[in-house]
Amino acid sequence: MQEKGTISIHTENIFPIIKKFLYSDNEIFLRELVSNAVDATQKIKRLATLGQYTGELGDTAVEVSFDAEKKTITISDRGLGMTAEEIKKYINQVAFSGAEEFVEKFKDAKDANEIIGKFGLGFYSAFMVADTVEINTLSYQEGAESAKWTCDGSTSFEITEGTRQERGTEITLHINKDSEEFLDKWKLQGILDKYAKFLPVPIKFGTKTESIEDGVDEKDEKKWKSVEVDNFINTTAPIWTKSPSDLTDEDYLKFYKELYPMSEDPLFWIHLNVDYPFNLTGVLYFPKVKNEFELQRNKIKLYSRQVFITDEVKDIVPEFLMLLHGVIDSPDIPLNVSRSFLQADGNVKKINSYITKKVADKLGELYKKDRKAYEEKWDDIGLFVKYGMISEDKFYEKGKDFALLKNTTGEYFTIEEYQSKVKPTQTDKNDQAVILYATDLEKQDGFIQSANNKGYDVLVMNSPIDSHFIQNLESKLEKTQLKRVDADVAEKLIQKDETYANLLTEDQSKEVKEIFDKAINNKTYTVEVEGLSPEELPVTITMEEFMRRMKEMAATGGGG
Ligand code: ADP
Ligand code: MG
Repeated sequence: MQEKGTISIHTENIFPIIKKFLYSDNEIFLRELVSNAVDATQKIKRLATLGQYTGELGDTAVEVSFDAEKKTITISDRGLGMTAEEIKKYINQVAFSGAEEFVEKFKDAKDANEIIGKFGLGFYSAFMVADTVEINTLSYQEGAESAKWTCDGSTSFEITEGTRQERGTEITLHINKDSEEFLDKWKLQGILDKYAKFLPVPIKFGTKTESIEDGVDEKDEKKWKSVEVDNFINTTAPIWTKSPSDLTDEDYLKFYKELYPMSEDPLFWIHLNVDYPFNLTGVLYFPKVKNEFELQRNKIKLYSRQVFITDEVKDIVPEFLMLLHGVIDSPDIPLNVSRSFLQADGNVKKINSYITKKVADKLGELYKKDRKAYEEKWDDIGLFVKYGMISEDKFYEKGKDFALLKNTTGEYFTIEEYQSKVKPTQTDKNDQAVILYATDLEKQDGFIQSANNKGYDVLVMNSPIDSHFIQNLESKLEKTQLKRVDADVAEKLIQKDETYANLLTEDQSKEVKEIFDKAINNKTYTVEVEGLSPEELPVTITMEEFMRRMKEMAATGGGG
């Protein structure tokens, strides 16, 4: 038997669904309502600029308040307000007509941002925490009358004459039983700090106590008194909205401290600013970190028109730059779609490669401008650069010009400089340049000395990322091999400089070698005896590079 038909959907279903799906993220109701208030404020300002509103703007701060006894939270603005007709059009129709589509599609939505964006339900997120919501509003339009809308979360609403005397809108939430946690000063302050810290219109939330000077006492010492002042949440013009030419280093450092109060000063920063083919602003900082273990991902905050959205920037920022700190603001990053869609999104891809390019350009510029200063920073930034070169070919192409190699005597070389340096002295029978490196300066000290004595240079490659970086260089550099300093290769290199004399006779050397060979009794090791100088270790025991790598793989369970 087969039967076809449509499942009838009742609009009454919308609120339980909104509540259920937005529940885990229910604090964003405040973000949505405050953003609406900010939008309304920006609109009236624009109308005033255009001469379409000629009245007084007045104090345009948005105010958030709560009443623990009445169990209400109120968001009020001095924006453009709404007429009763506009409430019907913008508030009623949007959600109610969208209900059917919503019910059909809600199963695809993965988080609250998606639902809100897709269905224009910002305002309705209020019902996540409120049983009843009231709008009391007065439009800026000549002769407009105040209107009041009340809805108890069912599909019926009521519009009556409002009581508001001044232009703007006041939204009152009657907080439901499950959400009383929001009727708390610190809870609300925390949410506002998170989402509203950089909104473009002042956001006021209660008052705070401040100490101010109050003249001098008899002993001519300053007197202080406590006063209650308005508590403003936000900085309305954060540095990323300004032009780099208007900012000083202090401004950037101050902003960094504001974002990460506990962190050390960053090494340098990059101001992002594009408006075509997508819109993006922001400031990215290179943090000061000595090793991988200190690194923290997800320290970049994503904003959309100064509203905080998330600190989950995967896909927008290339993987290797997730270690940077800072802020990205773009209205062109789709917030209302799923993650898989985000990866495929054209703008997101462009943003991703733009950021990669900007970072590469900045590093190249720092390198060119002051090599010495750049070398001093290298120990901190080397990790990012190597990580980037390994993970993205495009970045390798740029990075190869400013990536530095450091040798055991503390000199720095670019890859090209280093290749030219070793070519004359460190070439094997097959005319391959051989770069020697040490992974453990203490344990391999004997080998380093021995190599240096032969006139060979040794690089320091002792951070965890270096083993990957070495493999990467090997695959990229032509006619060049990289060998660990304790590999048996040093003997096979063409020695240009034959000034070393063995202090032992040939027989003596042979004798010592036999003793060692017998004691080690393992063919994978090569024993060399040569007393080049009284201070030098006369015996070196090496393992062929290939064997060593095999052994390491066996020990770490493959991979690498
Ligand atoms: P969106 O903000 O994405 O348009 P919302 O559901 O948040 O969707 O709001 C719907 C509409 O209601 C807004 O576009 C606006 O026209 C109107 N609105 C909401 N809040 C206010 C407010 N505080 N002042 C004036 N209009 C508002
Ligand atoms: Mg909105």
